[in-house]
Amino acid sequence: MPLVVTRFAPSPTGLLHLGSAYSALVARNRAREAGGRFLLRIEDTDIRRCRREYETAILQDLKWLGLDWDGAVRRQSDHFTDYGRELDKLDALGLVYPCFCSRAEIEREIAASASAPHAAPHGPDGPLYPGTCRHLAPVERKRRIAAGREHCVRLDSARSAAASGPYDFVDEQRGRMEGQPLLMGDFVLARKDTPTSYHLSVTVDDHLQGVTLVTRGEDILPSTHVHVLLQRLLGYATPLYAHHGLIADPTGRRLAKRDKDLTIRSLRESGVSPEEVRRRALAAAAGQA
Ligand code: GLU
Repeated sequence: MPLVVTRFAPSPTGLLHLGSAYSALVARNRAREAGGRFLLRIEDTDIRRCRREYETAILQDLKWLGLDWDGAVRRQSDHFTDYGRELDKLDALGLVYPCFCSRAEIEREIAASASAPHAAPHGPDGPLYPGTCRHLAPVERKRRIAAGREHCVRLDSARSAAASGPYDFVDEQRGRMEGQPLLMGDFVLARKDTPTSYHLSVTVDDHLQGVTLVTRGEDILPSTHVHVLLQRLLGYATPLYAHHGLIADPTGRRLAKRDKDLTIRSLRESGVSPEEVRRRALAAAAGQA
């Protein structure tokens, strides 16, 4: 049996709460049950929202909870060269393009196309990028870049789908799922302010860290369709997936970082033991299943 490698990959945009502790617990338990490895990765590429204080607090809270990880913590902002190298590979395959659109321009374009016969396609998070810059001539792209115009880099999803061909992946609870390469449209691979994006860095890191089982919330399931697409384009193996349910508050609303009273920090300060927090996290998850 190959070694089971799982990971917990929080973004340090707030304190750990019961929902994220559950996610960490699932990943850690799956590794420990299989005699495998449990890795910790800090996903801090969104420089506007991530804070070093939160990273420190997350590490402390995980240790307090008894969720010790194996090996060194991988902090994504220390590895921009890895993501740049993989992006260059996609560029060499002719699958990416620079996009100079501002947010306002994209919104205008979507609004204008809403009444057109071929209305802008929608993804899980709303309308998708309408593809404006995909049609720019290579010489115009070069001219704008030479002029120092800000831009992000997008995946040409239609070309990528053609290059990859049909694919699928396995989610433990849901079974074999047919990959939907166009689900996120021409999504961003490198942002204007950061030389990578969530989709690119998570895919590259799961590969470089040898992750074999990705456990994470079912809110991320739509993204898995394009992570597997990137894996195929870049020649990576596809791990097994287990998307778990999300813990809700007593009113049924999904827990989020804004729910301050359910942070691990506040539970700890109110005298709750680590065993009790772990028990509550598992019970809350089981209650909604
Ligand atoms: N960094 C993501 C988050 O905190 C998790 C990504 C993942 O597990 O793939 O929501």
